[in-house]
Amino acid sequence: MRHLFFIFLIVLSSLNALSSQNIKSPSDFLGYNIGEQFSRHHQVIDYFEHIAKEMPNQVKLEQYGQTNERRPLYLAYVSSEENIRNLETIRQNNLKQTGILQGTASTSKIAIVWLSYNVHGNEASSSEASMLTIFKLLTEHQNLLKNTVVIIDPCINPDGRDRYVNWYNETASKPYDIDRQSSEHNEPWPGGRANHYLFDLNRDWVWATQIETQNRLKVYNKWMPHIHVDFHEQGMNEPYYFAPAAQPFHEVITDWQSDFQTQIGKNHAKYFDAEGWLFFTRESFDLFYPSYGDTYPTYMGAIGMTYEQGGHGRAGLGVLNDEGHVLTLVERLTHHTTTGISTVEIASKNAEQLNTEFSKFFDNNSLKYKSYVLKGEKDKINNLKNLLDKHEIKYESPTSSKVTGYHYNKGRQGSLSLTSDELVVHTDQPKGKMVKVLFEPNAKLSDSLTYDITAWSLPYAYGLDAIASTSKLTSENVSESQVNTTLKDAYGYVSKWNSFNDAQFLASLLKNDFKVRFTEKPFMSNGNKFERGSLIITKGDNKHLDNFQESLGNIVNNHNQQLTIIKTGFSQTTPDIGSPDIKLINNQKVAVLSGEGTSSLSFGEIWNFFENQLNYPLTNINTDNLNRTDLDNYNILILPNGYYSSVLNETNLKKVKDWVRAGGKVLAIDGALRSFVGKEGFNLKYKASETSNESNNLVPYADRDRLYTNNMITGAIFNTKVDNTHPMAYGYDKDYFTLKLGSTTYELLDSGFNVAHVGDTKVYSGFAGKSAVEKLNNTLVFGEERMGQGSFIYLADNVLFRNFWENGKLFLVNSIFFVNNNAFKL
Ligand SMILES: [Zn+2]
Repeated sequence: MRHLFFIFLIVLSSLNALSSQNIKSPSDFLGYNIGEQFSRHHQVIDYFEHIAKEMPNQVKLEQYGQTNERRPLYLAYVSSEENIRNLETIRQNNLKQTGILQGTASTSKIAIVWLSYNVHGNEASSSEASMLTIFKLLTEHQNLLKNTVVIIDPCINPDGRDRYVNWYNETASKPYDIDRQSSEHNEPWPGGRANHYLFDLNRDWVWATQIETQNRLKVYNKWMPHIHVDFHEQGMNEPYYFAPAAQPFHEVITDWQSDFQTQIGKNHAKYFDAEGWLFFTRESFDLFYPSYGDTYPTYMGAIGMTYEQGGHGRAGLGVLNDEGHVLTLVERLTHHTTTGISTVEIASKNAEQLNTEFSKFFDNNSLKYKSYVLKGEKDKINNLKNLLDKHEIKYESPTSSKVTGYHYNKGRQGSLSLTSDELVVHTDQPKGKMVKVLFEPNAKLSDSLTYDITAWSLPYAYGLDAIASTSKLTSENVSESQVNTTLKDAYGYVSKWNSFNDAQFLASLLKNDFKVRFTEKPFMSNGNKFERGSLIITKGDNKHLDNFQESLGNIVNNHNQQLTIIKTGFSQTTPDIGSPDIKLINNQKVAVLSGEGTSSLSFGEIWNFFENQLNYPLTNINTDNLNRTDLDNYNILILPNGYYSSVLNETNLKKVKDWVRAGGKVLAIDGALRSFVGKEGFNLKYKASETSNESNNLVPYADRDRLYTNNMITGAIFNTKVDNTHPMAYGYDKDYFTLKLGSTTYELLDSGFNVAHVGDTKVYSGFAGKSAVEKLNNTLVFGEERMGQGSFIYLADNVLFRNFWENGKLFLVNSIFFVNNNAFKL
């Protein structure tokens, strides 16, 4: 008896250790009912750790990275005990199904579902839902886990989430105030949506400029899930949105992907109908721009979806919406929990078919273009390789000497001669559909009303000439060679200037106290020709440095830079090195405005660009403090995109103009240009529309949305003519492809320098409405206007947009270091 009792105890305790009885519900764990408070990120993580500790046989927690503000990024793998034991085998088998991993895949009946929460920090109901979802999966829905591996990312954007939650906790009344005029419903600038650098992580999947994305892609590519859900929130008056998505769909999306979205939507509808909850489908959220949490997974073979709950950063714990309904956090997280579980359920029910269809997606034989061939500056090719590496897309070197096909820079059929320095990306690789999406000259748009930009074609963005070929080019593996240079003693050294890598090299030299010159005129020395913008580093200028040659050599090797020796200051063709045309580069002090009035995204782009790309110091000045800022401490003031009507009031505008007259430089980006239009002393003017709108009032009410598209440019690519004798355009050719983000256009400057202007209105890629295109011809893209000793520099097109338009970045760097170099120095 006693003996038997002992055995019984052992059985009981071992059962306990492995079952869900030891796990606490989120409410029990947190000490408040879920939804009664916002949980800070560390509390969410503590809960997941609790679950993983109590149920190690069914939950594996993995830290996959850390944010800029040092918060951990976690994934929880949730499944049956058997699947968790075989997790690595399941993962590898899944990759074999795609062809990414060599070997024969065994038939898999296990669905892989990835649920991503809280990519937008202030859409904060979803991380709360992630806790309830994992709890329910492990308690009420164990049956679904038999054939499903659920990967949960409880919070993609912890820095943004905590910015929102901490602010809310500081601000909210107790009990919460449902009056939406109260502070707790009005977040201050910049809001909690974006990450630390104020990037929208739901626009960054392809460009991977942010640490969160870079880390996530590594695990994503290791897994390649069958379903990916990105949980969001929309305005508080909208109900709930789930799949199927809205048109346009990118043409690589298969019938299966589209049909299964409908099946999923119908499964969710079953639960929403039963509760009488409102929802909508097939409207607003389309599948086109590839850098989202729904499209990126879709182009990688998954069923990628966005779910949107009404609420957002304005809803708080409870708010009275326009329909007289008090929307609560409890309600919001309940809906997200319902769709999360319903997604796992439908995946489990269709696990076998999900696998077979998923594996079919990776057959890319039917794609029209077989190879994309890229030709251009080596640094630019390397830059592109870095991007492809992040997505584990393969590339090779051509072995053919010529290729014919669609010629990007001409916008028609053409050909290019090739050497092994060029790059070939084939579409007959597992990620061939993503290759098509990223490289094709112009993605087919089934509907012009889209949520985002319609052009991103990589050859234009990276400044490379390219051919899309319908036959597969012969090629071989790329041989990588890192040249380690030992500098020989010389009078001086010259570096070319035509890539962003050159700009990083310069930034590094200046930070290390090197004196560097640049040439405003081409010259020859020792039989070598040097173009405008070439950097000159002489021994004589750098006598203040110990070990000049050795430290220069280190910087050269760090940047994989190549320098040409000059033996004498006496050039073969003028200018000589001591000529006034070869100017010393000032160690520029750069400031940027942030805060109310500026676009947080645009400010974030500049901040990230300086800190993580150019690696050059930047001082951030809040617009509130502009009136008491001593601008004389800076050489350049950058105005991000924004609305400056109150920031640049009469007093502040006068202050800025006085500073410019004395030699300061203002660099205005995109919407910031509007601050100077029509103002005294400025030449900047809008270009008026050339078409009349006379007949528009006869367009039926139901078609007005469509009519509006006529005047829209939703991110389209145009060719511009460049004056590359102007310092702002050093390193560029006479043609530059620009990404236009809107239809605001400016006249060419009457007095000033029109550095780049739209030269023809051909739309190379993307959507641009007829009326918008008509007025584009001869409009200003980049320019400089002098005032006294200083300058206003205009970037009508934002070259730092999402930090992905690689080929535009040098215009900005040139503006900082080269334009109007005679201006005063600190
Ligand atoms: Zn969102």
